[in-house]
Amino acid sequence: MPSSPIARELRKIVGSEAVLDRPEDRMIYEYDAGLSTGTPEVIVFPSTTEQVSQIARTASRMNVPLVPRGAGTGLSGGSIPRAGGIVLVFTRMTSILEIDAANRRAVVQPGVVNADLSAAVAQHGLYFAPDPASQRASTIGGNVAENSGGAHTLAHGVTVNHITGLEVVLPDGRVAHMGGKAVDSCGYDLTGLFVGTEGTVAIVTAITVKLTKIAEAVETLLAIFNTVDDAANTVASITSEGITPVALEMLDGKTLRCVEEATHAGYPMDSGAVLLIELEGLREMVTDQADAVRAVCQRHSAREVRRAANDAERQLLWKGRKTAFAALGRLAPAYYTQDGVVPRSHIPKVLRYIESVAQQCKLEIGNIFHAGDGNLHPCILFDMRDPDQVERTHQAGRMILQYCVDAGGTITGEHGVGMEKNELMPLLFTDNDLEVMALVHDAFNPKSIFNPQKLFPTPRSCRETNIVRSSGVPR
Ligand SMILES: Cc1cc2nc3c(=O)[nH]c(=O)nc-3n(C[C@H](O)[C@H](O)[C@H](O)COP(=O)(O)OP(=O)(O)OC[C@H]3O[C@@H](n4cnc5c(N)ncnc54)[C@H](O)[C@@H]3O)c2cc1C
Repeated sequence: MPSSPIARELRKIVGSEAVLDRPEDRMIYEYDAGLSTGTPEVIVFPSTTEQVSQIARTASRMNVPLVPRGAGTGLSGGSIPRAGGIVLVFTRMTSILEIDAANRRAVVQPGVVNADLSAAVAQHGLYFAPDPASQRASTIGGNVAENSGGAHTLAHGVTVNHITGLEVVLPDGRVAHMGGKAVDSCGYDLTGLFVGTEGTVAIVTAITVKLTKIAEAVETLLAIFNTVDDAANTVASITSEGITPVALEMLDGKTLRCVEEATHAGYPMDSGAVLLIELEGLREMVTDQADAVRAVCQRHSAREVRRAANDAERQLLWKGRKTAFAALGRLAPAYYTQDGVVPRSHIPKVLRYIESVAQQCKLEIGNIFHAGDGNLHPCILFDMRDPDQVERTHQAGRMILQYCVDAGGTITGEHGVGMEKNELMPLLFTDNDLEVMALVHDAFNPKSIFNPQKLFPTPRSCRETNIVRSSGVPR
């Protein structure tokens, strides 16, 4: 099959072996961890920032969409080429460029896998705090683009709190640097502005990250409850006592039984829900806090609060949590993970609503989530081969997210807006709010060359129609 003009141009920049355009190769990049699909015309694997810059310039000149992709673990279709064109993958940009242990900084290329960074700096007593459950696969570039969180977000914050500098490539090929190793840089905080933009304004080619000191003591507790309500009520009580665990995760009965069968992490098969609670800091403080947490759990009828006796037990409990999504694959051919956020005190009523949605839509839904952040992850189990189930799955997802917004929350805590939730943005933002975001978008990416048709609702109003006309490519 003859190559397309854009594939020929890309081969001139990166060499033949770093460009794929056979149908069977293009199929592999049609999807990410979400439900959406879209076929790229060509896939390119740059090795340097200079190559990324030339690719961007070529895409702009030829008016071809360019979609950056890390590991493709995003759950909202962010790295799917919705409008076709080029998918730019970072598997050749995986170097840790610098480790500055004295100043607790590292400079990395975007393709570095999250867990690999922590492993590389462990010898200095340091780690990279944002730890999405996908950390063994997801890349730092993807984490920056999605402003990812993780189990330890409750105390440590999300990715934006751990990035002090960026190198980015703009659609016209310009390379720009913002921030650096210092905590505060003068002028506009452009580093913060680029985090969470989901590849729609710039391509990140280098990242300066903050490294965190490994704590003196860590205590991990597994609190076991007979009912989801008791576990959910415990969450708000722990934080209202003034205790901030580094992690406060919940698994409901359906999920934990599945996890236990897959990982043998020690979760009791007959319980209604478990909380995985982690405390860290100075030894004495952690011991006192663990006693206080235990007391709160018991007040809410925990039938048992176990303590991980050593690092191996701790790792096993976490293995259960971090492989929970995969374990749910035992129950159905597919699942659709939602990512709503609600104020912590509303968790019990939202979980009851999710159960009612499951019954109404005749679907099974399991819950594994960052309870301390109020960040829910209802996993809707379904069979993709059944169009009726697919429709009911989408309906259930929309109902849950609408309820989260009505409860004072949002439509995504960490999985991004991508192409699966862009139409829901008006639930949260007014036309004016979206207009301000569009101004930022158009300042950097006026022709929508980078990741088109993502994050913003597709044209609804006169304003948006005008922008589409002026840019030539629908957003
Ligand atoms: C089992 C599982 C568990 C998960 N758990 C969590 C969790 O606990 N917390 C959490 O936050 N997320 C979680 N996620 C979602 C996902 O892993 C994160 O959003 C992650 O940061 C995506 O990284 P990635 O490298 O896979 O990016 P991709 O999925 O490849 O891309 C995500 C977005 O980033 C853009 N992008 C990628 N690289 C760049 C770059 N260099 N420059 C500009 N844009 C770029 C893409 O265009 C896309 O819009 C989970 C996903 C799975 C499948």
